[in-house]
Amino acid sequence: MDRRIFGLETEFGLNYVPSDGRRLTPEDAARHLFRPVVAWGRSSNVFLNNGSRLYLDVGSHPEYATAECDQLLQLIAHDRAGETVMLDLVEQAEEQLLEEGHEGRLFLFKNNVDSAGNSYGCHENYLIPRKVEFKRLADMLIPFLVTRQLLCGAGHLVQIEDETKFVFSQRADHMWEGVSSATTRSRPIINTRDEPHADAQYHRRLHVIVGDSSMSETTQLLKIGATDLVLRLIESGEIYHDLRLENPIRSIRSISHAFTGQTVVRLMSGDEPTALQLQWKILELVKGFVARHGAHHDQVERVLELWERVLVAVESQNFSLIDQDIDWAIKHKLITGYAAKNNLGLDSHRIAQLNLTYHDIDPTRGLFHLLRRRGLASSVLDPQAIADAVENPPATTRAAIRSKFIRAARETGRRYSTDWVHMKYEEGEGGVVLCKDPFATTNSAVDELIEMMRRPV
Ligand code: ATP
Ligand code: MG
Ligand code: MG
Repeated sequence: MDRRIFGLETEFGLNYVPSDGRRLTPEDAARHLFRPVVAWGRSSNVFLNNGSRLYLDVGSHPEYATAECDQLLQLIAHDRAGETVMLDLVEQAEEQLLEEGHEGRLFLFKNNVDSAGNSYGCHENYLIPRKVEFKRLADMLIPFLVTRQLLCGAGHLVQIEDETKFVFSQRADHMWEGVSSATTRSRPIINTRDEPHADAQYHRRLHVIVGDSSMSETTQLLKIGATDLVLRLIESGEIYHDLRLENPIRSIRSISHAFTGQTVVRLMSGDEPTALQLQWKILELVKGFVARHGAHHDQVERVLELWERVLVAVESQNFSLIDQDIDWAIKHKLITGYAAKNNLGLDSHRIAQLNLTYHDIDPTRGLFHLLRRRGLASSVLDPQAIADAVENPPATTRAAIRSKFIRAARETGRRYSTDWVHMKYEEGEGGVVLCKDPFATTNSAVDELIEMMRRPV
């Protein structure tokens, strides 16, 4: 497959802090946040003009799922656009709350664990060919995903045997299975629910639910870029080494907890490499693959350079090589620096606060954004690309069709509904069109529905 469809789903942590002492339940806060959404789309589950999906499930973690993308930087821009959309809702909700006599602030965190210990996700979606045997794919992919936290963990503080430690990943301690069809109950690394949102005869949607959300665009680039490369290697059917882990869940935790990367991982073959050695092995295989087949997009070199630099940094414990690029390293520098300066232990309340505030998506308040403004954290996007993604769909995927349909329906005031594959016009003769091909950017049947909308009923 030359091109791949990608999508990122991000669930946010929500917190309301009253300044007048009047608390709101999390459900109430979420309801206020989504009031403009419900007013716009008559539901708390809507597709926006840019082709994305914005929704509130049970619980109170609002979610933004990007439209289908087929390029790395485009995907990162659309994920960042989700933050802009959420911030806009926060602003409207705070105004509304004030009108109702509630004085306070709403906080949204792009992280994966709340203070009560609940975990919520960042799901990665990759279109893969159906013909690749799924078990083989999972066997090869899981060792990569279990060790991928070295590259792109968000960094976290965890209490381990009476001691608070800085660890690689937020999600690692909340994963319970390797592969399963459930996303919440058993929390697998890969979810196998078979909803391809494409022609099921040819495609699958790989649903990876083990990753931490990324604040840093550079971390996001490495996370998705490296995973795409490993998938390409697997899809090629070329010989791969047997790196199957004896116990992925035990390994994912122990790897997260040892900041050296030297955790020994037992393989089914009986080998016992360290997490770092496994990563070096996979990087070597991927580099060989790229050397044989060439780079398939213009960011491949950058992804490989970053990947290698992170492994060197972990191995040498010289984090300064990556402490502007990789979330865990940026956060580690922030936290250890602050703790040393103020003579605080990692178990102190103020340190826990930093660990949380790093993920605040408010650009004036969030610590990641503060560091970025001071030139202490890198980015990969031109800010204009994010502003464009708030308004416009990716032009190269099915999202363009959905966007055109939604805009026309709203312009004409017609009743409609949509999901990832269906566009339904619900008035007059009406009709529903199934758009199975996520790579298609035009659909004549959808154009006919739009024509119909424009005619008097
Ligand atoms: P849940 O929230 O329960 O995990 P879900 O994963 O089925 O549900 P959504 O939250 O609706 O679904 O998100 C679907 C994601 O998959 C979106 O980011 C979307 O862009 C992406 N996507 C849509 N079609 C495809 C496809 N054919 N291949 C890969 N990704 C796709
Ligand atoms: Mg979702
Ligand atoms: Mg999902």
